[in-house]
Amino acid sequence: MPRLAEALRLPTLCAACHAWSRARVCDDCRAVATGTPRLRCRHCALPLPLPTPGPRPAPPDEPSSGAASASASASPAPPPLPPASAAPAAPSACGRCLRQPPAHATALAAVDYDAPWDRLITRLKFHDGLDLAPVLADTLLAAIRLHRNPLPDWVLPAPLGPGRLRERGYNQAWEIARRVAAALGRPARTDLLLRPRDGERQTALDLAARAANVRDAYAVDPRRRALLAGRTVAVVDDVMTTGASAEAMARTLRAAGAASVAVWVVARTAEPG
Ligand SMILES: [Zn+2]
Ligand SMILES: [Zn+2]
Repeated sequence: MPRLAEALRLPTLCAACHAWSRARVCDDCRAVATGTPRLRCRHCALPLPLPTPGPRPAPPDEPSSGAASASASASPAPPPLPPASAAPAAPSACGRCLRQPPAHATALAAVDYDAPWDRLITRLKFHDGLDLAPVLADTLLAAIRLHRNPLPDWVLPAPLGPGRLRERGYNQAWEIARRVAAALGRPARTDLLLRPRDGERQTALDLAARAANVRDAYAVDPRRRALLAGRTVAVVDDVMTTGASAEAMARTLRAAGAASVAVWVVARTAEPG
């Protein structure tokens, strides 16, 4: 009869692709995030187009026949970024953020909101998938370490409204934030940035309505404003969609005295419309 310890070592099914795996999410699925990090706007985390190299004069001893260009154009995949060690330390910004910078100084996303991460995040949020919080936190942590930005004084989860918190039983952003903060050795707290009212569900609203829905949704506890004065903070969330919530949270924190706000999300949706 197999002992329990042996049984516990048996492979399980990857939560994303359902292949046999020894971890909750298999190596192949994790490689989607960590294998080829994307160049993103430093303010809104939307993917930036990779710079196209200008025409390069061929060295005299390099054949300029069609062989090299034919093999290059045969590959449909976009060129991967350089390996992690050579990743750009300060990614540039998109045109929209250059014209109108958001209230948060930087935004960082680990992955696109795409398979398998969309499924994992949906499970974490709506299907009691608390067991997925560690792998999502690890994914975000890898992106934070890759960027090597200065670490904040406080790590704060994007708060849930009281009704939503009661309904779900936990704040998925806190489950990610507290793990990330512990790994970075920074303090995390839930009592600085609050969401006193629920508001409507953002998913049911269009772009303009989303911004209006969250504009006054957040607050800083007046008794704790002194903790924010002049401090840098990072707000952790699972997904950034339009950026309306991130903008509203950053405005609230800046108005309460925070020196700068970074937004750290596991996944970024594509630009709407
Ligand atoms: Zn998998
Ligand atoms: Zn941008």
